[in-house]
Amino acid sequence: MMRAYVALGSNLGDSKQHVLEAIEALAALPGTQVMARSRIYRTPPWGKLDQPDFLNAVVALETALEPPALLDALLSIERAAGRERNGERWGPRTLDLDLLHVAGKTVNTERLTLPHPHIADRAFVLLPLHDVAPELDIPGQGKVVDLLQNVDVQGCNAL
Ligand code: ATP
Ligand code: MG
Ligand code: MG
Repeated sequence: MMRAYVALGSNLGDSKQHVLEAIEALAALPGTQVMARSRIYRTPPWGKLDQPDFLNAVVALETALEPPALLDALLSIERAAGRERNGERWGPRTLDLDLLHVAGKTVNTERLTLPHPHIADRAFVLLPLHDVAPELDIPGQGKVVDLLQNVDVQGCNAL
């Protein structure tokens, strides 16, 4: 079993419902248990500013799925939530599931980068990740509690 951290985001449709249903879908994956879930935060958009606020959360999993299989499962849960990809990154979406980190795993392939390269830049990831794993050390980026000191959390609020 591997410890894995997944970030959830939504800013289209019933975002709270999308996030809650995604957590249930993660818990239902084969060989997978949800060990902890963060609070849900309302956060301003990042990267592309002219879109609605997001709801964001993070869950900690114990899973027997290897990272490529786990990514496949995340993409399939996104599709079930009506996620449409138009080639544009960071745009509005019903559900975004990003694999942040899997303990002991570094991956650099076309379709998967681990750890996720933008954790240290994103208050909307670090706030909920801090709820579940404040002492986690992200290889190449740093400890969550320290990274959180260096981002702007203004406008990010737990529901
Ligand atoms: P970002 O990853 O910067 O948050 P995004 O979530 O908007 O951007 P998506 O459109 O959801 O990007 O994903 C584009 C592709 O990113 C996915 O098809 C997937 O193959 C790839 N990808 C690479 N590394 C990861 C990862 N750690 N978690 C999720 N997807 C990843
Ligand atoms: Mg993302
Ligand atoms: Mg994504």
